[in-house]
Amino acid sequence: MDTDVLIGGGGIVGCSLAYFLAREGTDTLVIDRFDLNTQASGTNAGSLHVQMMSFFAMEGDWERYARLEAKLPLYLAGGRMWRELERELGFEVEVKSGGGLMVAETDDQLRFLEKKVAGERRLGLTSGVVTGAELKNLAPYLSDAVIGADFCPDEGKVNPLIATPAIARAAANADAVFRRGTALLGLTREKQGFAATTSGGPIRCRRVANAAGPDMGAVAAMVGLAYPTESLVLHMNATEPAAPFLPHLVQHANERLTLKQVANGNLLVGGGWPAVVDPATGQPSVVRTSVEGNLWVAQHLVPEMAHLRLIRTWAGVMEFSDVVNPIYGEAPEVPGFFNAQASAGYTAGPFCAHVLADVMGGRNEDGDAVRIALAQNAD
Ligand SMILES: Cc1cc2nc3c(=O)[nH]c(=O)nc-3n(C[C@H](O)[C@H](O)[C@H](O)COP(=O)(O)OP(=O)(O)OC[C@H]3O[C@@H](n4cnc5c(N)ncnc54)[C@H](O)[C@@H]3O)c2cc1C
Repeated sequence: MDTDVLIGGGGIVGCSLAYFLAREGTDTLVIDRFDLNTQASGTNAGSLHVQMMSFFAMEGDWERYARLEAKLPLYLAGGRMWRELERELGFEVEVKSGGGLMVAETDDQLRFLEKKVAGERRLGLTSGVVTGAELKNLAPYLSDAVIGADFCPDEGKVNPLIATPAIARAAANADAVFRRGTALLGLTREKQGFAATTSGGPIRCRRVANAAGPDMGAVAAMVGLAYPTESLVLHMNATEPAAPFLPHLVQHANERLTLKQVANGNLLVGGGWPAVVDPATGQPSVVRTSVEGNLWVAQHLVPEMAHLRLIRTWAGVMEFSDVVNPIYGEAPEVPGFFNAQASAGYTAGPFCAHVLADVMGGRNEDGDAVRIALAQNAD
């Protein structure tokens, strides 16, 4: 055997899993077809989401809304884990828990937020609707068009450009091995484990962890598994830095928006506006309508942004599924093959990896890790 665990994918999930496995002495090798943290994990907005997001409500898809809502305890646990990880790593990765506001501009939107809060509280969140003077005191930067907000004190932000590399470094210090520029091309089951074909030569391993993000379906297909996977190509903007004035993560009840001010003063504006994959290069690429629409919503809610210049836009691809099981954990049909993708964003990536490391370490033999985590966190 070249390694015990071969992890395919070096984003937040693969790097965190490597860290948790290696620190307990498990022989771990991470391969990534590009460099570490270059795909969704290195292009994301760094919002630590905890409250229920509004996009399925906007689309009127209440079935998917309910499925996503059931995952909220994962995000709560995800936020907590980031705070613990920053302490444990002994390295500042800009984790801040200033709280998050999802704002409403109409009575209908406010009623939706009240319903949303009731669901969140049932799942253990401490969110609540704020209006009037209370809201003005909390967020004086918001436009007068805002009549109320769902305030969730557990929300916040992290800097993904330093956080994933910090976790990868901690994993390497614990003897995890990383091979960049090495694509997993095929997997053959053997008596004792797997023979992996990679662009860097063959690798034999006892177990495989699939942390390939949007390509998790392609990796699962290498051992004959068919999983429903969805990819979203998303847009992001950054403004020039401003003096600190916006401590919260801001979202909208009926518009696509995430807005926050990061440690060095830049405002990051995202929230799910679409981008495209350029057919010529295969790389994600921005579209002008998303730049305009996304910035319009942000500036409409936070008028102080009007004088700030946009300095950068970019796009990234993420995996998304509102189904956790049976995708997460050891595949019953293929013992030794573990799916590390719980589609729970950058926020819950380390938490999901931590639970999976427990499963792989034999401390949680049920194998249905996220179901257990959900149950524990709902208590
Ligand atoms: C623009 C944007 C904004 C976002 N904003 C937020 C946010 O604010 N908050 C939040 O919680 N989430 C956010 N997300 C989602 C979040 O970024 C992802 O859910 C998370 O980073 C997924 O991590 P991952 O490690 O599973 O995947 P990735 O980071 O995509 O990593 C997968 C890795 O697998 C590698 N790989 C794939 N196939 C192979 C193969 N065959 N062989 C070897 N390597 C392979 C890839 O090269 C890649 O490095 C955002 C996503 C995007 C795109």
